[in-house]
Amino acid sequence: MPARMSELKLFNTLSREKETFVPLVAGQVRMYSCGPTVYNQPHIGNLRTFLWSDLLRRYLEWRGYRVTQIMNITDVEDKIIRNANAAGQDIYTYTAPFITSFHEAIEKLRVKPADAYPRATQYIPQMVRLVQKLTGRGHTYVADASTYFRVASFPGYGKLSRIEVDASSDYSRIESDEYEKESARDFALWKAKKEGEPSWPTALGEGRPGWHLECSAMSMDLLGETFDIHTGAVDLIFPHHENEIAQSEGATGKPFVRYWVHGEHLNVDQQKMSKSVGNIYTLHEIEEMGYQPLVLRYALLSVPHRTKLNFTTQSLEDARNALQRIELFLLRLEEISRSAPHDGRRSDGYADQLIATFLSDFQKAMDDDLNTAGAFGALFTLIRDANTAIDAGRVSASDAESLRTAMMKVDPVLDIYPQREEALDESVEKLIEARNAARKARNFAESDRLRDALLAQGVILEDTPGGTRWRKKG
Ligand code: AMP
Ligand code: ZN
Repeated sequence: MPARMSELKLFNTLSREKETFVPLVAGQVRMYSCGPTVYNQPHIGNLRTFLWSDLLRRYLEWRGYRVTQIMNITDVEDKIIRNANAAGQDIYTYTAPFITSFHEAIEKLRVKPADAYPRATQYIPQMVRLVQKLTGRGHTYVADASTYFRVASFPGYGKLSRIEVDASSDYSRIESDEYEKESARDFALWKAKKEGEPSWPTALGEGRPGWHLECSAMSMDLLGETFDIHTGAVDLIFPHHENEIAQSEGATGKPFVRYWVHGEHLNVDQQKMSKSVGNIYTLHEIEEMGYQPLVLRYALLSVPHRTKLNFTTQSLEDARNALQRIELFLLRLEEISRSAPHDGRRSDGYADQLIATFLSDFQKAMDDDLNTAGAFGALFTLIRDANTAIDAGRVSASDAESLRTAMMKVDPVLDIYPQREEALDESVEKLIEARNAARKARNFAESDRLRDALLAQGVILEDTPGGTRWRKKG
């Protein structure tokens, strides 16, 4: 790993500044990521948020921290209940396939599994205890058998979203849809049982949890009362995360989260991708359009998390081309590293310089609030300069090996290289296409080089009147 020249800085929504990241316990990071509400397939906007949360975890690990990451699954809330009822199913039967498709989608996108995926329905006792604690500290009231959080009782309310909570900004009860609340800002911790809704018999009465409660209960149960990082997209800042702070700090009197990291949305035609607008794409649809999940991974990760990303098919085309450049470069390096030591190529130390620059630029970019555009920029600068050096005969077999090792150093973070077995067929087809194009352009040096690159992969080409066929050697 390269020398630690710089510090990791993360933009903290709480301070609205990039802050140097220092974990609570040296060497360890505890992070919580708001997960999916499982009433439909995740759309690629949701997936964008899961991807960069995973990238943050991977980068922290790359920097040597031991990371514990928790992601909740919201499996009981209004939309789930409504849809399950419409389908004539209980919530468990209704949500099961969406939980499966969430796991399948993130696995295809190479998101590393979190340490745990607690579900709201499995945390009822912890949630009840949290409400009891809040009641003990004077933060709740009961109205019509539901328990509410009294926002006026928590002076820190608004510190994350910076909304005004003075008396004048408070609506009258009449303007609120929930008449029983004392103030429109107050929110339900525990909702009294209603006909046709799932409910649990608890010390708070028969009912179900409000949506915000689960994240406070699970995160503190699994990570402690104060932990390092909480992630989600910007739509969660208010009210969800503001309410999480009120619930958690109201109950413990301790700071809840040290770094609040929020990502921007994935948009379509400058509008947030969301089910209600009807402008969503799923991973499955992207695959049906002919793009591998890896292409989407690259397209979504190459834009830093705090930058709005307008989704277009052009961005997928660009991603596919970028991945192909990387793949061809890796093949080229392999080919050179297998070449004889005296084939005219010699090292003049230039490759080592390129590598040092690459690793330092990669880390500098990632340290700057996960600037992935800069990190990929460093990778493509390496590829461009190394290709030029290879053409000039300045890259020896051992240089090629060093270049490959350097590329592999960032692999645990970016994870965008093709996986041998799964990608072999497609990559061979692409190389054959490139070779045919070279032959058509009468660039025989290039077409021979590509044939040899394939041979180095154990792929033998046969040019037949019906086109080029290939088979694996041995
Ligand atoms: P949900 O399944 O709606 O609870 O959302 C799961 C995660 O996706 C949350 O962190 C949301 O903030 C995030 N999210 C929702 N829509 C988008 C979008 N268009 N772009 C990026 N993230 C989103
Ligand atoms: Zn949450």
